[in-house]
Amino acid sequence: MKVKVIGLLILIMCICGGCKAQDVQQEDTFKSCEVFAMDTYMTLTAYGENANGALEKAESRIKELDDKLSTGNADSEIALLNSNGSGKLSKDSFYLLEKSLDISKKTDGAFLPTIYPIMEAWGFPTKEFNVPDASLIKNLMPLLDIGKVDIDSQNDSVSFREEGMKLDFGGIAKGYTSDEIMKIFKENGIESGIINLGGNVHTLGTKTDGSLWKVGIQNPYGDEEYLGVLEIADKAVITSGGYERFFEKDGIIYHHIIDPATGYPADNELQSVTIVSNDGVLADGLSTALFVMGLDKAIKFYRDNSEDFDVIMMTKDDVVYVSEGVSDSFSTSFDMKLIER
Ligand code: ADP
Ligand code: MG
Repeated sequence: MKVKVIGLLILIMCICGGCKAQDVQQEDTFKSCEVFAMDTYMTLTAYGENANGALEKAESRIKELDDKLSTGNADSEIALLNSNGSGKLSKDSFYLLEKSLDISKKTDGAFLPTIYPIMEAWGFPTKEFNVPDASLIKNLMPLLDIGKVDIDSQNDSVSFREEGMKLDFGGIAKGYTSDEIMKIFKENGIESGIINLGGNVHTLGTKTDGSLWKVGIQNPYGDEEYLGVLEIADKAVITSGGYERFFEKDGIIYHHIIDPATGYPADNELQSVTIVSNDGVLADGLSTALFVMGLDKAIKFYRDNSEDFDVIMMTKDDVVYVSEGVSDSFSTSFDMKLIER
């Protein structure tokens, strides 16, 4: 945890490099704030006259979304749906449900919003970790079938066809939140800003001097050297890795990204997947999905959908695979391989 927080601070310092208050011109005034929500530290930075107002609105939107989407808070809309098996949803939750079902279909079930019963079996929501019996996993698998989620888009309502089915937006909620903050920034006249929601970065415009943002991507080993640095404008840069949340039992590491085909933590050659896209929700969903797919399937998926996103993947033998759309904007000291479209 300590390493993660330090890593985050370094990342923030890097991102804001050169924009210390005393350096900036009058018209370059920026404001920053920190929020703890969705079980992570978030930093929001906006430039311009309306920065304060925009940040206040963004902060209350984050809290609103956390209250609606958190599975851990028994009063949240999603927690109530999970305990009742049916319910009417707010626009936010219904949008996320539709979007997550869509990403699930596109990724052939590698992303699965119905994964929650398996997350519970492993103890991730409560942090009371446990390696479940194979028989328990097998018994829970029928609850993951998204074909048994009935949605009514006229009324924004949903019901599960099997008792015990539960939704989990943990793999997508921060991406949605970052999209919503970008919207608030724009509505409030902000043309330049950067936010970091626990390692998920989203940039608005360029820096005020017109140069690109430099986003450091966290190294799975947690040390100070980045996996690499990306120079971009107007993009979400969202990373999933098995190093983020995990526990160890009898010398084996069990992490929080589950392969829905097996019910066990995804186990392939990948250590981390970063998605770069205009669409934060898609980026978040795909970072989880491509991590589950493994290298070959992820490369094929990129080639079939390269108009929607770019990808940076690090394998367990420390090779960084970078897709063509961002290869010129990315630098790393690791061995790098190009993924052509
Ligand atoms: P993080 O939340 O650490 O940034 P991810 O975006 O990859 O990382 O989300 C992981 C979370 O997504 C898990 O904690 C769990 O709530 C949920 N999840 C785990 N496996 C899957 C999956 N295969 N499909 C959809 N959601 C998943
Ligand atoms: Mg994700």
